[in-house]
Amino acid sequence: LSPSAAPAADNAAHPAFDVHQVRRDFPILQEQINGKPLIWFDNAATTHKPQVVIDRIAYFYAHENSNIHRAAHTLAARATDAYEDARETVRRFLNAPSVDNIVFVRGTTEAINLVAKTWGKKHLGQGDEIVISHLEHHANIVPWQQLCQETGASLKVIPVDDSGQIRLDEYQKLLTSKVKLVSFTQVSNALGTVTPAAEMIQMAHRAGARVLLDGAQSVSHMQVDLQALDADFFVFSGHKIFGPTGIGALYGKKDVLDDMPAWQGGGNMIQDVTFDKTVYHQAPAKFEAGTGNIADAVGLGAALKYVERVGIHNIARYEHELLVYATHLLTQVPGLTLYGTAKEKASVLSFNLLGYQSEEVGAALNNEGIAVRSGHHCAQPILRRFGQETTVRPSLAFYNTYAEIDVLYQALRRLAAARP
Ligand code: PLP
Repeated sequence: LSPSAAPAADNAAHPAFDVHQVRRDFPILQEQINGKPLIWFDNAATTHKPQVVIDRIAYFYAHENSNIHRAAHTLAARATDAYEDARETVRRFLNAPSVDNIVFVRGTTEAINLVAKTWGKKHLGQGDEIVISHLEHHANIVPWQQLCQETGASLKVIPVDDSGQIRLDEYQKLLTSKVKLVSFTQVSNALGTVTPAAEMIQMAHRAGARVLLDGAQSVSHMQVDLQALDADFFVFSGHKIFGPTGIGALYGKKDVLDDMPAWQGGGNMIQDVTFDKTVYHQAPAKFEAGTGNIADAVGLGAALKYVERVGIHNIARYEHELLVYATHLLTQVPGLTLYGTAKEKASVLSFNLLGYQSEEVGAALNNEGIAVRSGHHCAQPILRRFGQETTVRPSLAFYNTYAEIDVLYQALRRLAAARP
C-alpha cells in the first residue's frame, strides 16, 4: 500500500460497490471548505444525508403532513402510514421480531435515559449492580450513575487491555448474582473497538442479567441482527446512519417492554383517561407520549432503505479496507501515536501528534478542508485510560475514499515536518 497507488484502488476490491457513484448521492460532499474540497472525516459525530433522505422529508411536508391519528382524514392516514412504514423499516434493518419492539425516541441518549428511568427504577435497588465497560460514551455512563444515586445500586466497570479491547476474563469476574444489567457499546466512538457483543450478551444472560447494547457507532458499519444477538435493549441514533437529527430508536424485547412502567405521560400513549385512572397503550405507543418527530422518523426510514440498497456487507467490507489503509499510512507519520489497536475495529482512528495540541491539528486540517473531531469525544474515561485528555479523531464512512486518506496523510506529514 502506497499513497500514490491508492486512488486507482478505490473500487478495485469490490466491483459491486462504486464509491464515486455513492458520493454523488450526498450533495454536501460537493462543498468547498477554505478553497479545498470538503473531506468529511467526522462521521462518528454525525453523518451526511443522501439526497433521497432530504427529498423524503420534503415530500412528507409537501404531501403527507399531519399528526398521526389514522382515522381522522386523508392526510392523517398518509402521515400515519409513512410513520409506521419507517418503524417497519427499522424493524427489518435490525431483524427485530416485531414492530412492537421499536420505540421512536430522539436518539441514543434519550433511549438510554428512558431505560434507566423506567426499567432501571423498577428493577434496581440497594445492593444491585450495573456493569458497563471502560469504553463507554458519557451517554452510557451518566444515566446509570444517576440511577445508582437514586436507587442505591452501584456501577462496576469492565477494564480494557492495552489495545482497547474488553477484558473478558475481568468481565466474567464481575458477573455475580448482584448484576441486574450490563450496558455496553458495540463499537467505541473514541477508539473504534468492536466489542465481542454476542459473547458478552450470552455471558450476561448466563449470570441472569439483562443487556443494553449501544449501537450508536455500529449500525452504520456492520450488520446488526437483534434476534441473533439476543440483546434485551438496543439503541441507536438516526443522524449517525445518514438520517436526520432528533430521531432514533429504542429496541426492547416484548416481555421487557410490557413490564416497563411508562416514562412520560400525555397524548398518544393512552387508551383511556379519567380523573381517577389512566389506561396506557401497549408498547411502543406507551413510550411515545405527545407528538413525536414524525417527519424525521420518515427520513430515518428512507436512510435505512438507502443503506439496504447500497448493502451493509458492501459497506462493511469497503470501510474495513479503508481503515486498514488509513491505519497503515497514519502510523508512518513521524511522532504520531495511535490509540486503539484492537484487532476488531470499525471506522475510527484516534491519535495525537507529538508537539501539537489535538485542537491545533484539527484547525490545521480544517485549513485543508478536512473535518475531524479533536477533543474528548464525550468519552473521557477511556481517553484517560490511555493517558490522554483529548485526541484527534478521523472517522470514516462508506463515502470516503483512499484519495481522501492520502490528503490527510500528506497534511499530517507536513505538520510533523514543521513540528515546533
Ligand atoms: N453512544 C455512543 C457510542 C456514541 O458515539 C454517541 C454519540 O456520539 C452516543 C451514545 C450518543 O448519541 P446521541 O448524541 O445521538 O444521543
